[in-house]
Amino acid sequence: MQTFLQQRLAQREQAHLYRRRLVHAGVQSPLLTIEGRTYLAFCSNDYLGLASHPDLIRCLQQAANQYAVGAGASHLINGHTQAHHALEEELAAFTGRERALLFSTGYMANMGTVTALVERQDAIFADKLNHASLVDAAQLSRAHHHRYAHNDMSMLARLLSQTMTRHQLIVTDGVFSMDGDLADLPQIVALAKQHQAWVMVDDAHGFGVLGTTGGGTVAHYQLSATDVPILMGTLGKAFGVTGAFVAGSALLIENLIQYARSYIYTTALPPALAETLRTSLKLVQAGSEQREKLQALIQQFRRGATQLGLPLLPSMTPIQGILLGEAEKALQLSQALYQQGILVTAIRPPTVPPHTARLRITFSALHTPEQVDKLLLALAQHY
Ligand code: PMP
Repeated sequence: MQTFLQQRLAQREQAHLYRRRLVHAGVQSPLLTIEGRTYLAFCSNDYLGLASHPDLIRCLQQAANQYAVGAGASHLINGHTQAHHALEEELAAFTGRERALLFSTGYMANMGTVTALVERQDAIFADKLNHASLVDAAQLSRAHHHRYAHNDMSMLARLLSQTMTRHQLIVTDGVFSMDGDLADLPQIVALAKQHQAWVMVDDAHGFGVLGTTGGGTVAHYQLSATDVPILMGTLGKAFGVTGAFVAGSALLIENLIQYARSYIYTTALPPALAETLRTSLKLVQAGSEQREKLQALIQQFRRGATQLGLPLLPSMTPIQGILLGEAEKALQLSQALYQQGILVTAIRPPTVPPHTARLRITFSALHTPEQVDKLLLALAQHY
Protein backbone atom coordinates (compact mmCIF):
# COMPACT_ATOMS: atom_id res chain seq x y z
CA MET A 1 0.00 0.00 0.00
CA GLN A 2 2.79 2.37 0.99
CA THR A 3 4.44 2.13 -2.45
CA PHE A 4 1.15 2.62 -4.28
CA LEU A 5 0.30 5.75 -2.31
CA GLN A 6 3.79 7.21 -2.77
CA GLN A 7 3.85 6.51 -6.50
CA ARG A 8 0.53 8.18 -7.05
CA LEU A 9 1.71 11.33 -5.33
CA ALA A 10 4.95 11.31 -7.34
CA GLN A 11 2.96 11.01 -10.57
CA ARG A 12 0.84 14.01 -9.65
CA GLU A 13 3.94 16.04 -8.86
CA GLN A 14 5.67 15.11 -12.14
CA ALA A 15 2.61 16.11 -14.17
CA HIS A 16 2.47 19.52 -12.41
CA LEU A 17 -0.92 18.52 -11.04
CA TYR A 18 -0.10 18.36 -7.33
CA ARG A 19 -2.49 20.43 -5.24
CA ARG A 20 -1.37 22.36 -2.21
CA ARG A 21 -3.46 24.19 0.32
CA LEU A 22 -2.64 27.71 1.40
CA VAL A 23 -3.11 28.49 5.05
CA HIS A 24 -4.31 32.05 5.48
CA ALA A 25 -4.74 33.81 8.75
CA GLY A 26 -8.44 34.55 8.96
CA VAL A 27 -11.15 36.56 7.29
CA GLN A 28 -12.08 35.90 3.65
CA SER A 29 -11.45 39.19 1.81
CA PRO A 30 -9.43 40.61 -1.10
CA LEU A 31 -6.44 40.95 1.24
CA LEU A 32 -5.21 37.71 2.80
CA THR A 33 -2.34 37.16 5.19
CA ILE A 34 -0.21 34.13 4.51
CA GLU A 35 2.87 33.45 6.64
CA GLY A 36 2.94 37.08 7.71
CA ARG A 37 2.77 38.51 4.18
CA THR A 38 -0.31 40.23 2.72
CA TYR A 39 -1.58 39.03 -0.64
CA LEU A 40 -4.12 40.55 -3.00
CA ALA A 41 -6.44 37.62 -3.69
CA PHE A 42 -8.66 36.94 -6.70
CA CYS A 43 -9.84 33.43 -5.86
CA SER A 44 -12.84 33.41 -3.56
CA ASN A 45 -16.49 32.82 -4.38
CA ASP A 46 -17.46 35.56 -1.92
CA TYR A 47 -18.88 37.54 -4.84
CA LEU A 48 -20.83 40.13 -2.85
CA GLY A 49 -18.40 40.37 0.05
CA LEU A 50 -20.96 38.97 2.49
CA ALA A 51 -18.62 36.45 4.16
CA SER A 52 -17.29 39.29 6.32
CA HIS A 53 -20.36 41.55 6.38
CA PRO A 54 -20.83 43.16 9.83
CA ASP A 55 -24.61 42.52 9.80
CA LEU A 56 -24.00 38.82 9.32
CA ILE A 57 -21.37 38.67 12.06
CA ARG A 58 -23.78 40.38 14.45
CA CYS A 59 -26.62 38.13 13.39
CA LEU A 60 -24.54 34.99 13.91
CA GLN A 61 -23.51 36.13 17.39
CA GLN A 62 -27.12 36.82 18.39
CA ALA A 63 -28.38 33.63 16.78
CA ALA A 64 -25.75 31.61 18.68
CA ASN A 65 -27.19 33.03 21.91
CA GLN A 66 -30.64 31.88 20.87
CA TYR A 67 -29.86 28.55 19.16
CA ALA A 68 -26.50 27.55 20.73
CA VAL A 69 -24.19 25.66 18.36
CA GLY A 70 -25.06 22.31 16.80
CA ALA A 71 -28.40 21.19 15.36
CA GLY A 72 -27.77 17.94 17.20
CA ALA A 73 -29.71 15.76 14.77
CA SER A 74 -30.76 15.32 11.17
CA HIS A 75 -33.79 17.21 9.83
CA LEU A 76 -36.06 14.16 9.95
CA ILE A 77 -35.21 13.31 13.55
CA ASN A 78 -35.32 16.56 15.51
CA GLY A 79 -32.69 18.85 13.97
CA HIS A 80 -35.15 20.97 11.96
CA THR A 81 -35.66 24.28 13.80
CA GLN A 82 -37.85 27.27 13.12
CA ALA A 83 -34.75 29.03 11.73
CA HIS A 84 -34.31 26.31 9.05
CA HIS A 85 -38.02 26.35 8.35
CA ALA A 86 -38.29 30.13 7.98
CA LEU A 87 -35.23 30.20 5.70
CA GLU A 88 -36.79 27.54 3.47
CA GLU A 89 -40.00 29.53 3.22
CA GLU A 90 -38.13 32.73 2.40
CA LEU A 91 -36.02 30.99 -0.25
CA ALA A 92 -39.18 29.55 -1.81
CA ALA A 93 -40.77 33.00 -1.95
CA PHE A 94 -37.61 34.59 -3.33
CA THR A 95 -37.25 32.03 -6.11
CA GLY A 96 -40.98 32.09 -6.88
CA ARG A 97 -41.47 28.39 -6.14
CA GLU A 98 -43.84 26.53 -3.85
CA ARG A 99 -41.18 25.15 -1.56
CA ALA A 100 -37.46 24.98 -0.91
CA LEU A 101 -35.35 22.42 0.95
CA LEU A 102 -32.08 23.14 2.73
CA PHE A 103 -29.06 20.89 2.31
CA SER A 104 -25.77 21.13 4.21
CA THR A 105 -23.71 21.70 1.04
CA GLY A 106 -24.21 22.14 -2.68
CA TYR A 107 -22.37 18.89 -3.29
CA MET A 108 -24.94 17.09 -1.16
CA ALA A 109 -27.88 18.92 -2.74
CA ASN A 110 -26.83 17.72 -6.19
CA MET A 111 -26.07 14.22 -4.99
CA GLY A 112 -29.36 13.87 -3.13
CA THR A 113 -31.59 15.44 -5.77
CA VAL A 114 -30.32 13.61 -8.83
CA THR A 115 -30.26 10.21 -7.11
CA ALA A 116 -33.76 10.79 -5.70
CA LEU A 117 -35.20 11.56 -9.13
CA VAL A 118 -33.67 9.16 -11.62
CA GLU A 119 -32.55 5.55 -11.68
CA ARG A 120 -31.44 2.77 -14.01
CA GLN A 121 -34.35 3.02 -16.46
CA ASP A 122 -33.94 6.82 -16.87
CA ALA A 123 -31.47 9.07 -18.66
CA ILE A 124 -29.49 12.14 -17.65
CA PHE A 125 -28.32 14.70 -20.23
CA ALA A 126 -25.48 16.74 -18.85
CA ASP A 127 -23.17 19.46 -20.13
CA LYS A 128 -19.59 18.18 -20.38
CA LEU A 129 -18.43 21.02 -18.11
CA ASN A 130 -20.96 20.44 -15.31
CA HIS A 131 -19.63 20.54 -11.77
CA ALA A 132 -18.00 17.38 -10.37
CA SER A 133 -20.87 16.87 -7.92
CA LEU A 134 -23.32 16.52 -10.81
CA VAL A 135 -21.03 14.03 -12.54
CA ASP A 136 -20.74 11.99 -9.34
CA ALA A 137 -24.49 12.23 -8.74
CA ALA A 138 -25.24 10.96 -12.25
CA GLN A 139 -22.90 8.01 -11.76
CA LEU A 140 -24.37 7.14 -8.39
CA SER A 141 -27.93 7.29 -9.77
CA ARG A 142 -27.09 4.53 -12.33
CA ALA A 143 -29.19 6.33 -14.94
CA HIS A 144 -27.85 6.41 -18.51
CA HIS A 145 -25.47 9.34 -18.51
CA HIS A 146 -25.24 11.29 -21.76
CA ARG A 147 -22.77 14.16 -21.73
CA TYR A 148 -23.06 16.74 -24.50
CA ALA A 149 -20.21 18.99 -25.62
CA HIS A 150 -20.20 22.29 -23.73
CA ASN A 151 -23.33 24.29 -24.60
CA ASP A 152 -23.76 22.25 -27.80
CA MET A 153 -27.52 22.44 -28.21
CA SER A 154 -27.67 20.49 -31.47
CA MET A 155 -25.86 17.61 -29.76
CA LEU A 156 -28.33 17.78 -26.86
CA ALA A 157 -31.24 17.76 -29.33
CA ARG A 158 -29.76 14.74 -31.11
CA LEU A 159 -29.20 12.82 -27.89
CA LEU A 160 -32.71 13.58 -26.65
CA SER A 161 -34.32 12.38 -29.84
CA GLN A 162 -32.26 9.16 -29.84
CA THR A 163 -33.10 8.21 -26.24
CA MET A 164 -36.12 6.10 -25.30
CA THR A 165 -35.94 5.85 -21.53
CA ARG A 166 -38.71 6.20 -18.93
CA HIS A 167 -37.73 9.73 -17.82
CA GLN A 168 -35.23 12.25 -19.15
CA LEU A 169 -33.47 14.74 -16.89
CA ILE A 170 -31.42 17.58 -18.38
CA VAL A 171 -29.02 18.94 -15.81
CA THR A 172 -26.69 21.91 -16.18
CA ASP A 173 -24.69 24.46 -14.27
CA GLY A 174 -26.30 27.92 -14.66
CA VAL A 175 -22.88 29.62 -14.61
CA PHE A 176 -20.05 27.21 -15.41
CA SER A 177 -17.72 27.17 -12.44
CA MET A 178 -14.37 27.06 -14.23
CA ASP A 179 -15.26 29.06 -17.38
CA GLY A 180 -17.74 31.60 -16.04
CA ASP A 181 -20.05 31.48 -19.07
CA LEU A 182 -23.78 30.82 -18.90
CA ALA A 183 -25.75 27.77 -19.96
CA ASP A 184 -28.04 28.38 -22.92
CA LEU A 185 -31.07 27.98 -20.68
CA PRO A 186 -33.70 29.30 -23.13
CA GLN A 187 -32.66 26.66 -25.65
CA ILE A 188 -32.41 23.93 -23.01
CA VAL A 189 -35.91 24.77 -21.79
CA ALA A 190 -37.28 24.69 -25.35
CA LEU A 191 -35.71 21.28 -26.00
CA ALA A 192 -36.97 19.97 -22.67
CA LYS A 193 -40.53 20.99 -23.59
CA GLN A 194 -40.22 19.35 -26.99
CA HIS A 195 -39.03 16.07 -25.44
CA GLN A 196 -40.97 16.16 -22.14
CA ALA A 197 -37.69 16.17 -20.25
CA TRP A 198 -37.18 17.58 -16.75
CA VAL A 199 -34.73 20.47 -16.24
CA MET A 200 -32.45 20.95 -13.25
CA VAL A 201 -30.19 24.00 -12.96
CA ASP A 202 -27.28 24.16 -10.50
CA ASP A 203 -26.91 27.90 -10.00
CA ALA A 204 -24.10 27.83 -7.45
CA HIS A 205 -22.31 30.76 -9.13
CA GLY A 206 -25.26 32.68 -10.54
CA PHE A 207 -27.54 32.81 -7.52
CA GLY A 208 -27.18 36.17 -5.77
CA VAL A 209 -24.98 37.53 -8.56
CA LEU A 210 -27.15 37.66 -11.69
CA GLY A 211 -30.61 39.17 -12.08
CA THR A 212 -31.66 42.56 -10.71
CA THR A 213 -32.38 41.21 -7.23
CA GLY A 214 -29.92 38.33 -7.37
CA GLY A 215 -32.36 35.66 -8.55
CA GLY A 216 -29.56 34.10 -10.62
CA THR A 217 -29.25 32.69 -14.11
CA VAL A 218 -32.92 31.71 -14.31
CA ALA A 219 -33.93 35.29 -13.39
CA HIS A 220 -31.33 36.69 -15.82
CA TYR A 221 -33.08 34.85 -18.67
CA GLN A 222 -36.52 35.69 -17.22
CA LEU A 223 -37.50 32.03 -17.14
CA SER A 224 -40.27 30.72 -14.91
CA ALA A 225 -40.60 27.97 -12.33
CA THR A 226 -42.39 25.90 -14.97
CA ASP A 227 -39.43 26.33 -17.34
CA VAL A 228 -36.90 25.24 -14.69
CA PRO A 229 -38.80 23.05 -12.24
CA ILE A 230 -35.69 22.01 -10.26
CA LEU A 231 -33.48 24.87 -9.10
CA MET A 232 -30.44 24.35 -6.92
CA GLY A 233 -28.58 27.26 -5.34
CA THR A 234 -25.67 27.38 -2.91
CA LEU A 235 -25.34 29.58 0.15
CA GLY A 236 -21.57 29.50 0.64
CA LYS A 237 -20.68 31.71 -2.31
CA ALA A 238 -22.62 34.98 -2.93
CA PHE A 239 -24.55 34.34 0.31
CA GLY A 240 -21.31 34.32 2.28
CA VAL A 241 -22.17 31.49 4.69
CA THR A 242 -22.51 27.80 3.77
CA GLY A 243 -25.20 25.35 2.69
CA ALA A 244 -27.47 24.97 -0.31
CA PHE A 245 -31.10 24.50 -1.26
CA VAL A 246 -33.32 23.03 -3.91
CA ALA A 247 -36.48 24.93 -4.83
CA GLY A 248 -39.45 23.61 -6.76
CA SER A 249 -42.99 22.36 -6.48
CA ALA A 250 -44.36 21.06 -3.19
CA LEU A 251 -44.48 17.63 -4.81
CA LEU A 252 -40.80 17.74 -5.76
CA ILE A 253 -39.71 18.87 -2.30
CA GLU A 254 -41.81 16.25 -0.53
CA ASN A 255 -40.16 13.63 -2.76
CA LEU A 256 -36.72 14.90 -1.83
CA ILE A 257 -37.57 14.76 1.87
CA GLN A 258 -38.55 11.12 1.42
CA TYR A 259 -35.84 9.97 -1.01
CA ALA A 260 -32.77 12.26 -1.02
CA ARG A 261 -30.27 10.27 1.01
CA SER A 262 -27.81 13.14 1.46
CA TYR A 263 -30.69 15.10 3.03
CA ILE A 264 -31.98 12.31 5.24
CA TYR A 265 -28.80 10.79 6.61
CA THR A 266 -26.88 13.84 7.79
CA THR A 267 -26.90 16.41 10.57
CA ALA A 268 -28.84 19.61 9.82
CA LEU A 269 -26.88 22.86 9.42
CA PRO A 270 -26.34 24.66 12.73
CA PRO A 271 -29.58 26.64 13.25
CA ALA A 272 -27.63 29.83 13.98
CA LEU A 273 -26.22 29.59 10.44
CA ALA A 274 -29.72 29.13 9.03
CA GLU A 275 -30.80 32.24 10.95
CA THR A 276 -27.76 34.15 9.63
CA LEU A 277 -28.66 33.07 6.11
CA ARG A 278 -32.04 34.78 6.48
CA THR A 279 -30.13 38.05 6.84
CA SER A 280 -27.89 37.08 3.89
CA LEU A 281 -30.99 36.69 1.77
CA LYS A 282 -32.14 40.20 2.69
CA LEU A 283 -28.68 41.61 1.90
CA VAL A 284 -28.59 39.76 -1.42
CA GLN A 285 -32.00 41.09 -2.43
CA ALA A 286 -30.97 44.62 -1.52
CA GLY A 287 -27.52 44.18 -3.09
CA SER A 288 -28.01 45.90 -6.46
CA GLU A 289 -25.21 48.31 -5.70
CA GLN A 290 -22.77 45.44 -5.04
CA ARG A 291 -23.88 43.68 -8.22
CA GLU A 292 -23.36 46.86 -10.24
CA LYS A 293 -19.96 47.39 -8.66
CA LEU A 294 -19.02 43.82 -9.48
CA GLN A 295 -20.08 44.30 -13.12
CA ALA A 296 -17.98 47.47 -13.35
CA LEU A 297 -14.91 45.59 -12.03
CA ILE A 298 -15.52 42.76 -14.49
CA GLN A 299 -15.81 45.20 -17.41
CA GLN A 300 -12.66 47.04 -16.30
CA PHE A 301 -10.75 43.76 -16.14
CA ARG A 302 -12.01 42.52 -19.50
CA ARG A 303 -11.16 45.81 -21.22
CA GLY A 304 -7.64 45.78 -19.77
CA ALA A 305 -7.02 42.09 -20.44
CA THR A 306 -8.23 42.45 -24.04
CA GLN A 307 -5.85 45.36 -24.58
CA LEU A 308 -3.04 43.17 -23.29
CA GLY A 309 -4.04 40.43 -25.73
CA LEU A 310 -4.62 37.86 -22.97
CA PRO A 311 -6.52 34.70 -24.03
CA LEU A 312 -9.68 35.49 -22.05
CA LEU A 313 -12.52 33.00 -21.92
CA PRO A 314 -15.91 34.50 -22.84
CA SER A 315 -17.71 35.41 -19.60
CA MET A 316 -19.81 38.24 -18.16
CA THR A 317 -19.70 36.84 -14.63
CA PRO A 318 -17.18 37.31 -11.77
CA ILE A 319 -15.43 34.13 -12.96
CA GLN A 320 -12.83 35.16 -15.54
CA GLY A 321 -10.50 32.60 -17.08
CA ILE A 322 -7.21 33.07 -18.90
CA LEU A 323 -6.67 29.97 -20.98
CA LEU A 324 -3.07 28.77 -20.91
CA GLY A 325 -3.16 25.15 -22.10
CA GLU A 326 -0.62 23.06 -20.25
CA ALA A 327 -0.66 22.75 -16.45
CA GLU A 328 2.99 23.80 -16.16
CA LYS A 329 2.31 27.12 -17.87
CA ALA A 330 -0.67 27.91 -15.65
CA LEU A 331 1.34 27.01 -12.57
CA GLN A 332 4.29 29.18 -13.62
CA LEU A 333 2.13 32.24 -14.16
CA SER A 334 0.27 31.67 -10.89
CA GLN A 335 3.62 31.36 -9.07
CA ALA A 336 5.05 34.49 -10.68
CA LEU A 337 2.00 36.45 -9.52
CA TYR A 338 2.32 34.93 -6.06
CA GLN A 339 5.93 36.12 -5.81
CA GLN A 340 4.57 39.58 -6.47
CA GLY A 341 1.94 39.30 -3.75
CA ILE A 342 -1.05 38.42 -5.95
CA LEU A 343 -3.04 35.27 -5.41
CA VAL A 344 -4.74 33.71 -8.45
CA THR A 345 -5.37 29.98 -8.67
CA ALA A 346 -4.06 27.84 -11.49
CA ILE A 347 -6.83 25.42 -12.41
CA ARG A 348 -5.54 22.21 -13.89
CA PRO A 349 -6.88 18.79 -14.97
CA PRO A 350 -8.78 16.84 -13.74
CA THR A 351 -10.80 19.90 -12.62
CA VAL A 352 -10.77 21.08 -16.26
CA PRO A 353 -10.28 18.99 -19.46
CA PRO A 354 -6.71 18.09 -20.54
CA HIS A 355 -4.73 20.92 -22.21
CA THR A 356 -7.11 23.60 -20.92
CA ALA A 357 -5.27 24.60 -17.75
CA ARG A 358 -5.96 28.23 -16.91
CA LEU A 359 -5.77 31.01 -14.41
CA ARG A 360 -9.16 31.40 -12.80
CA ILE A 361 -9.67 34.94 -11.59
CA THR A 362 -12.72 35.70 -9.48
CA PHE A 363 -13.93 39.13 -8.46
CA SER A 364 -15.76 40.27 -5.37
CA ALA A 365 -17.68 43.50 -4.83
CA LEU A 366 -15.05 44.22 -2.16
CA HIS A 367 -12.28 44.59 -4.78
CA THR A 368 -11.39 48.13 -5.82
CA PRO A 369 -10.65 49.43 -9.34
CA GLU A 370 -7.05 50.07 -8.17
CA GLN A 371 -6.69 46.41 -7.20
CA VAL A 372 -7.93 45.35 -10.65
CA ASP A 373 -5.32 47.67 -12.22
CA LYS A 374 -2.66 46.08 -10.06
CA LEU A 375 -3.67 42.63 -11.28
CA LEU A 376 -3.60 43.78 -14.92
CA LEU A 377 -0.16 45.30 -14.46
CA ALA A 378 1.19 42.08 -12.97
CA LEU A 379 -0.35 40.04 -15.79
CA ALA A 380 1.24 42.37 -18.33
CA GLN A 381 4.65 41.77 -16.73
CA HIS A 382 4.45 38.01 -16.40
CA TYR A 383 2.22 36.63 -19.17
N1 PMP B 1 -22.09 23.23 -8.00
C1 PMP B 1 -21.19 24.07 -8.53
C2 PMP B 1 -21.37 24.54 -9.93
C3 PMP B 1 -20.11 24.50 -7.74
O1 PMP B 1 -19.18 25.32 -8.27
C4 PMP B 1 -19.98 24.05 -6.42
C5 PMP B 1 -18.88 24.54 -5.50
N2 PMP B 1 -17.62 24.58 -6.01
C6 PMP B 1 -20.92 23.17 -5.93
C7 PMP B 1 -21.98 22.79 -6.73
C8 PMP B 1 -20.83 22.62 -4.55
O2 PMP B 1 -21.29 23.54 -3.63
P1 PMP B 1 -20.81 23.49 -2.11
O3 PMP B 1 -19.48 24.17 -2.08
O4 PMP B 1 -21.86 24.20 -1.36
O5 PMP B 1 -20.71 22.03 -1.75
